[in-house]
Amino acid sequence: MPADVTYLGAGAVRELAARLGVRPTKTWGQNFVVDANTVKRIVRLGQVGPDDVVLEIGPGLGSLTLGLAAEAAAVYAVEIDPVLAAALPGTLAAYAPARADRVHVLAQDALTLTDLPQPPTRVVANLPYNVAVPVVLHVLGRFPTIERVMVMVQLEVAERLAAPPGSRTYGAPSVKAAWYGHARLAGTVPRSVFWPVPNVDSGLVSVDRQAPPTAPVAREEVFAVVDAAFAQRRKMLRSALARMAGSPAAAAVALEAAGVDPTLRGEQLDVAAFARVAASLRHMGPVVHG
Ligand code: SAM
Repeated sequence: MPADVTYLGAGAVRELAARLGVRPTKTWGQNFVVDANTVKRIVRLGQVGPDDVVLEIGPGLGSLTLGLAAEAAAVYAVEIDPVLAAALPGTLAAYAPARADRVHVLAQDALTLTDLPQPPTRVVANLPYNVAVPVVLHVLGRFPTIERVMVMVQLEVAERLAAPPGSRTYGAPSVKAAWYGHARLAGTVPRSVFWPVPNVDSGLVSVDRQAPPTAPVAREEVFAVVDAAFAQRRKMLRSALARMAGSPAAAAVALEAAGVDPTLRGEQLDVAAFARVAASLRHMGPVVHG
């Protein structure tokens, strides 16, 4: 780790917040990391190297940004809170003077991010917990150059993203993450590394990009089938997809054509099976009522 970066400890984080008049808000999921070892661990697990262009969502006071600046070629830090976004360049200049110019701060909602000046190769972030899943899915969909995601999220969300078919926590986020790559729980994080201390446990989850299933169907169509299947989680697929197919019988035909037993539930299907079902539903053409 280069020596020209000073990490933020608990004292520095509180002092910075006080100076800026920042009172952490739950609305934006503001729990700041106050532990250098946690920052170093996340950067290491993110496999950030000197060629990487990192997208960081929610840099906050800059705890993780400093660790990323120490390793990456460039960091794009997207922060929704205008006060935090405005303060970040000053913090970087003070705590990582030789590396501050490689960090670019964008004051905006990550969910509206559509372009970056350089194609990102990594997403590394301590995410705001209330929008963690939509943010991860949005950036994976928007930036195909991202090879690896390493994010800290609520432990329950990390488990859901990484859950295999058939498990209790497997749901729409698991299938959608699997569309983009291989998601894996990479560890847990104690509550004590945050200020303020959150009232939920945290975990690290990685997604390594893989090619999506080969089916003649758009991602949006597959995701629509996934949403329909999990909207009525307890229902058999032939019922859950009835509205989409036109009737339970039509859904059963489409499922069978995709090689899927119509009496299964969504939680038993992997992403490749969902892609086959979406392709088969589309093959049936527009639904004719009457
Ligand atoms: N990365 C910092 C750290 O580790 O100390 C802060 C992490 S804090 C859990 C989440 C950060 O995301 C906050 O700074 C918050 O203002 C920001 N944030 C919340 N919603 C956001 C959004 N939709 N887009 C961008 N930033 C967001």
